[in-house]
Amino acid sequence: MTEHNTSHKVVVIGGGYAGTLAANRLRMRDDVDITLVNPRPEFVERIRLHQFVARTGDATIDYGTLLGEGIQLVVDSATRIDTAARTVRLASGRALDYDYVIYAVGSTGAVPSVPGAAEFTWSIAELESAQRLRARLEELPLEAQVTVVGGGLTGVETAAELAEQGRKVTLVCGRTLAPYLSAGGRRYVAKWLTRHGVAVLEGDAVTEVRPDSVVLADGSADSVVRPSALTIWDGRFRPAGAGGGERAAHRRARPAAHRRDADQHRRRPHRRGRRRRRAVGPAAADEWLRRRATRGTGRRHRAEPHRGDRTGDDQPGLHGRVRQPRPARRHQTDRR
Ligand SMILES: Cc1cc2nc3c(=O)[nH]c(=O)nc-3n(C[C@H](O)[C@H](O)[C@H](O)COP(=O)(O)OP(=O)(O)OC[C@H]3O[C@@H](n4cnc5c(N)ncnc54)[C@H](O)[C@@H]3O)c2cc1C
Repeated sequence: MTEHNTSHKVVVIGGGYAGTLAANRLRMRDDVDITLVNPRPEFVERIRLHQFVARTGDATIDYGTLLGEGIQLVVDSATRIDTAARTVRLASGRALDYDYVIYAVGSTGAVPSVPGAAEFTWSIAELESAQRLRARLEELPLEAQVTVVGGGLTGVETAAELAEQGRKVTLVCGRTLAPYLSAGGRRYVAKWLTRHGVAVLEGDAVTEVRPDSVVLADGSADSVVRPSALTIWDGRFRPAGAGGGERAAHRRARPAAHRRDADQHRRRPHRRGRRRRRAVGPAAADEWLRRRATRGTGRRHRAEPHRGDRTGDDQPGLHGRVRQPRPARRHQTDRR
């Protein structure tokens, strides 16, 4: 009798929170072969990059402790999804056949359009930029003025870590400090930062960055130049792989045939409507991260993956409740 291989090949592009969760969750099915493609051999905990910069925490985790058994890790970058040939092309020149693709490439730091920002600001959005920033901070005397631009939670966390190091920090909020928090939460954050010596400038925006200063405007005709030996821009993120702009623009830029094909592929494994199709991607990761923030104790982070979290099934994974029915081989790392 002829045996048919009914396994579906799933290629997950991007091993961040969304891609890693998706790959682990897919293991609930026993008819899929899962390959995860990621440029780095380690998982980057982006939500810890500010701690990495301040040397108060690590930001990388071995995939061996996160990925479930049987998931193949390919350390490479996807450069093209060839829907006609049903292959994902990689920077190394290799191609991976797929039946389904999960596109979970996340985001990266947006280059601000403010004059001088591209040349003279530092970013914390990626592991590599955080590594450069950490090295620069180590050269800088403690009393040097550091400016953090961006009053969102990433800016607040960065300013707080550096202030705890004993650095002189100014946080330029643009408008409101921590706008996503309640009024009480904002008051608490403002008080904490002030107590730790951070100069919080609400209502001021950076209009120019110079090698050793920033120019600030508060909406009036006058601008103020403030010394800044190092300026960190924690302002905004943009989708990775999109080459800039909004995700919608990225969608528009993709050929219609590709869109149709990719959408069709997304629908096939689950036929439960829109909610299912939204199960991966930055928004889903954020939702999960928010839910995580309401659990647990200790030092509060908006979220974090729980390494080796177990729920009785004694299997590794980012998500504790994922059932792991498949007794399969250990995940293999392929660095070609
Ligand atoms: C300093 C900092 C602090 C933060 N703190 C919080 C927080 O407390 N709470 C919160 O909710 N959010 C926080 N965030 C935001 C959070 O990190 C993101 O929402 C989250 O990382 C999104 O997860 P993701 O899996 O979609 O993308 P990512 O984590 O960005 O993962 C995407 C992965 O895809 C890979 N990739 C990209 N392009 C390709 C390609 N072509 N081929 C293969 N792989 C590719 C990337 O290298 C990366 O590994 C923070 C961000 C930063 C920078």
